[in-house]
Amino acid sequence: MPRIKLALAIAALALSGAAALAQSEKTGVEKLYVLNCGEGTAGDISRWTPGLNEGKTMDFVDSCYLIKHTKGWFLWDTGIADSVAAMPNGLPPADPKAVTWRRPKTLAAQLEQLGIKPGDVKAMAVSHTHPDHTGNVELFPQATLYVQKAEYDWPGANNEPRFKPSHPVELLSGDKDVFGDGSVTILSTPGHTPGHQSLLVKLPKTGAVVLSGDAVHFKDNWDNRRVPSMNASKDQSAASMQKIADTLTKDKAQLWINHDKAQRDSQKMAPEFYD
Ligand SMILES: [Zn+2]
Repeated sequence: MPRIKLALAIAALALSGAAALAQSEKTGVEKLYVLNCGEGTAGDISRWTPGLNEGKTMDFVDSCYLIKHTKGWFLWDTGIADSVAAMPNGLPPADPKAVTWRRPKTLAAQLEQLGIKPGDVKAMAVSHTHPDHTGNVELFPQATLYVQKAEYDWPGANNEPRFKPSHPVELLSGDKDVFGDGSVTILSTPGHTPGHQSLLVKLPKTGAVVLSGDAVHFKDNWDNRRVPSMNASKDQSAASMQKIADTLTKDKAQLWINHDKAQRDSQKMAPEFYD
C-alpha cells in the first residue's frame, strides 16, 4: 500500500473511531413523566407537623415518575397499589389520622397510554418501603430494583421482608449514579425510614430536579424543616433535608415534593412530559 493511502486509511479509521466514541458519549435523560399514583385526604396533619394543625385535614397526592434515559426506562416510586382503583371510597388507613388513598387511574393504564409495557422498564427504585410507594413494585418483576441495604434489611410487619425475595435488586450503601453519566443519581436521604432515598435527575431543558420521596411531605414542612412524628430518626431526617438543600444549591435544582398537592396541580402530567 502506498504510504499516502495508508496514511489516509489510518486517518479514516481514527475519524470513525472518534465518531463512534461521540455516539457512545451521547447519553442522558430525554424525558420525565409525572404519573398520578394516588389522591387522598389526610385525617389529621398534626402527625406530620408535631404540635401544630391538630384536627386539620389536608388533601395529598401521590406521584410516580417515569424517566426515559437513552439507555432505557427508569421508574421512580410505584404509588398506591393499582387494586385500590376498584375501591370507590378508597383505602381507609389503620390510623384515622393518616391518609385515605384513592386511585383515579392505575399505573398500568398510564403506562399503556404512553405505549410502554411493564417489561420495557428495566430499572426502578422506590424512595422507601411505605405502601403508598411500593404498591406496584411487582408489576415489574424483571426490573432491577435499586434499594438501600438499610431499607432492604429493615424488618417489616411480622418480620416480613420488604420486597419479594425473588425480585432482582442492587443493594446500595449511599449515593448511586444509576447510568454512569451523572444524569440520574440516587441520593441516600435516611430518616423518614432507615434507608429512605431521593433522586436527582438532570434534564436537558428543564434542568436539575430533586424528587424528594417523603424526605418532606409538603412545602410548609420543607420551609420550616419539620420532622413528622412517625419518622424513624429525627436527626437523620434533619441531616437529609440539609443534604437535599445543599444539592438544590449546588445543582441549581428544583425540589419536587411527592405528596404536595398544590405543587402537583401546577405540574404537567403524563402524557405531557418534561425534557
Ligand atoms: Zn408517602
